[in-house]
Amino acid sequence: MVSRVIPVETFDLVIFGGTGDLARRKILPGLYRRFVAGQMPPEARVIGAARSEMDQKGYQDLIRDAIEEFIKEENRDPETLDAFLERLDYTAIDARGEGGWDNLAKMVRKDAVTAFYFSVGPGLFGDIATRLHDHKIATPESRIVVEKPFGRDLESAKELNGVLAASFDESQIYRIDHYLGKETVQNLMAVRFGNVLFEPLWNAQYVDHVQITVSETVSVGGRGGYYDKSGAMRDMIQNHLMQLLCLTAMEPPSKFDPDAVRDEKLKVIRALDPVPADNIVRGQYGADEDGPSYIEDSENPDSRTESFIALKVDISNWRWKGTPFYLRTGKRMKARMSEIVVHFKETPHSIFDEDAGSHSNILSIRLQPDEGMDLRVTIKEPGPGGMRLIDVPLDMTFADALGPEGADVTDAYERLIMDVIRGNQTLFMRGDEVEAAWAWTDPIIEGWQKRGDKPVQYEPGSSGPDDALMLLHRDGRRWRELRA
Ligand code: NAP
Repeated sequence: MVSRVIPVETFDLVIFGGTGDLARRKILPGLYRRFVAGQMPPEARVIGAARSEMDQKGYQDLIRDAIEEFIKEENRDPETLDAFLERLDYTAIDARGEGGWDNLAKMVRKDAVTAFYFSVGPGLFGDIATRLHDHKIATPESRIVVEKPFGRDLESAKELNGVLAASFDESQIYRIDHYLGKETVQNLMAVRFGNVLFEPLWNAQYVDHVQITVSETVSVGGRGGYYDKSGAMRDMIQNHLMQLLCLTAMEPPSKFDPDAVRDEKLKVIRALDPVPADNIVRGQYGADEDGPSYIEDSENPDSRTESFIALKVDISNWRWKGTPFYLRTGKRMKARMSEIVVHFKETPHSIFDEDAGSHSNILSIRLQPDEGMDLRVTIKEPGPGGMRLIDVPLDMTFADALGPEGADVTDAYERLIMDVIRGNQTLFMRGDEVEAAWAWTDPIIEGWQKRGDKPVQYEPGSSGPDDALMLLHRDGRRWRELRA
């Protein structure tokens, strides 16, 4: 199967923080892949901007090294890499100073789509937005892309929205959550709204519960100090898992259009119940031979920040009342795995005798590794000896179903950057969505702070604290096994 490349208009993309980790690891390798796919128009250019002094050649060399490091050798060749690097330019600029902006104004074309990627700490978003506006570098058609974290609570998110709104219209602001750029996440919408099969069953009458897991094997490592101010609730639940929950739970939008989709997601967030203390488990990983404990990594012996969290979340609306959504995410877990799993109810009555056991359908949507979907259906175990039932997968791993081209799913970042150039905000968070997510998150965090709750310690390389297992056991359910 040959994937279709939809052309985009010519563009100038300025990356503030163009020398940083995210730019080198994700943004520029992603752009290179789009270049190789033929999606970068001949005149399209990328301009790196950061404080470090360097010329165009210096920047090209830096990005050559990055692409050689982060793109496998079989997926690149020296000729296309040279041609791609030709598209890169660089300008030294301090977001907080006044120098360099007039130079940038000269570099950016007025007759191309212009996009400005704020790949810098959020403390600089306001400075950059204001200067782009004041130096007339951005036009009313320009787009800005802002990275997470978008605030650390409702108040700071509102402030950030206010700062951006002073220079840019909401239709120009692209708040990135790279989970929304994943192929399977979009496939979730295709499966739900492109088939008659699932939607009639997609409600509390037929769905027993939903599990959303994002588990990582890595520790907080060298960024423990930064992480300790945030924790899994702010770093993962408020944004990534919340977005996955919204797409799973939302009503069908009237069309696949940015505001129609985002309106429906917003309604889900507003329907989330407050989460009582009993439905929250927080943990910190301990030490083992592979690495230090969270407490050591954070360099904060009194830290009460969670590197793991599991929550039971209820949605108060007609569709979901009575069907809990269990969310969990953590560091130094047994496996690196992200998935949404919809557990359907058992049949209302079994016509088979007790030996057949109890069975139910499970739809799992894997974000990583091996993006794909799998539906477990119950069939008769082959062979003589009566009616014994087993659950087997109807597997749709993209690699198997679509061939090697299908398996080569576009990285989330490159897809999202192309959406910015196309002016399509569907997969980006709107300001009111982010604020609603914080409005739900803040009281949960304030609750455990007020109670003085301490995270429990869990074994590194495990599935998290035992209390998280109990969160489901007490409801007669269990988490899906974490496996690589
Ligand atoms: P980083 O490696 O520290 O890079 C920061 C970049 O900003 C550098 O290019 C730096 O270059 C530039 N910079 C710093 N101060 C500046 C100033 N005053 N004016 C102009 N440029 C300035 O950070 P990062 O990891 O790339 O992260 C960038 C943003 O993406 C952050 O908001 C982060 O939270 C977010 N993010 C990162 C990742 C990731 O995987 N890295 C993932 C998700 C979100 P100079 O020092 O030369 O100025």
